[in-house]
Amino acid sequence: MFDKILIANRGEIALRVIRACREMGIASVAVHSTADADAMHVRMADETICIGPAPGTDSYLSIPAIISACEVTGAQAIHPGYGFLSENARFVQIIEDHGLTFIGPTAEHIRVMGDKITAKDTMKALGVPCVPGSDGGVPDVETAQKLGAEMGYPVIVKATAGGGGRGMKVAASADDMAHAFMTARSEAKAAFGNDEVYIEKYLQKPRHIEIQVFGDGKGKAVHLAERDCSLQRRHQKVFEEAPGPAISPEERARIGNICADAVAQINYAGAGTIEFLYEDGEFYFIEMNTRLQVEHPVTEAIFGVDLVREQIRVAEGLPLSFTQDELAMNGHAIEVRINAEKLPNFAPSPGRITQYHAPGGLGVRMDSALYDGYSIPPYYDSLIGKLIVHGRDRNEALARLNRALGELIVDGIDTTIPLFHALLQEPDIHSGDYNIHWLEKWLETALSEG
Ligand code: ADP
Repeated sequence: MFDKILIANRGEIALRVIRACREMGIASVAVHSTADADAMHVRMADETICIGPAPGTDSYLSIPAIISACEVTGAQAIHPGYGFLSENARFVQIIEDHGLTFIGPTAEHIRVMGDKITAKDTMKALGVPCVPGSDGGVPDVETAQKLGAEMGYPVIVKATAGGGGRGMKVAASADDMAHAFMTARSEAKAAFGNDEVYIEKYLQKPRHIEIQVFGDGKGKAVHLAERDCSLQRRHQKVFEEAPGPAISPEERARIGNICADAVAQINYAGAGTIEFLYEDGEFYFIEMNTRLQVEHPVTEAIFGVDLVREQIRVAEGLPLSFTQDELAMNGHAIEVRINAEKLPNFAPSPGRITQYHAPGGLGVRMDSALYDGYSIPPYYDSLIGKLIVHGRDRNEALARLNRALGELIVDGIDTTIPLFHALLQEPDIHSGDYNIHWLEKWLETALSEG
């Protein structure tokens, strides 16, 4: 059992992990940059240690600084949160080499899922449905055009090393292909230092549906249903819900079991998310995230389980604390991401919070590291809070979201709160009728009119 866990992250997710540690009687160590000396995660942890200057590359991404912090504080395990080093196989290897424990899957699983072609091949072999596409990398434009003609346009050219929506280009026709191929390739080279690309059929109106899985690392695994994260801007999720309004109980059980079986077969350990595009009743695998997701609280709400606690237990070598049959879904949950950004262009809006008031009441959870007088530094991600609501059904969750947003006060900076007030006026949001392009299209007109 761990006595002390170091959290290699900041912001709301660091608080989230500290809270789980405290409930489990485990001491927590917060690391921080000089810019975060006054941050909430530093105030709330049992011990704190400064690991470097403000830029992430010199602090939260500095592997030597984080390993040294473990040695100085005697922490036995590291929780990476999401982002930063959470999907860095080299980091995991170094942690293991130092006799410490990484709270997450093995370096090998992170490596396999981090390369999109290998991930897709692996999932296909495990029986997971994938988007039709090229067999592995595509070497040149001529091959790409040949494949495009076979598959039928539109197709999408994607970087093997991709992430964050970079290195992806849609080709609507054979004429488009040369340009799409070369652009995706040079973007991939610039962003990831690897210009390998592959091709997939481009789905025109899919929903983003992701399955939460959990493995014990010893061949047992469960699924915790799906989240629908179709409301995205520039491939960034802004509004997530569970269960998915378009998914039937039969579809949920079918795809959920496929995913749980797949991760059980590879002895996957801890939390993982298998992401799909969903169109006309079919699921198409796009990628697996080998970490806790930002939107995990909606799953926690409907299943009533603590996923961080479960991650820590699995890292300690304990069995999963629930079987598939014991996992019962209850009601509907929605999360909205509050970012320090100014509408309508979503420009970063760091600065001092003059007043902060978190909503409360039945079925409301606010995960945020804000406090009155806190200054949001300009160096990091703009996510400053997640408002999660839970109701007996989707309508109740939407009404509760509306009520909770009305109580939430974040003064002194611009935030994305008005975006959600506006979205709640939309009939499509209430009917659940949207795909991954809905929000971008709506943003083109809605916010400028308002
Ligand atoms: P990244 O790791 O860069 O986020 P993903 O493979 O997860 O890349 O894809 C990100 C987003 O790009 C998806 O959520 C979807 O909006 C779009 N996308 C990816 N592949 C396809 C496809 N075959 N058809 C349509 N849209 C796609």
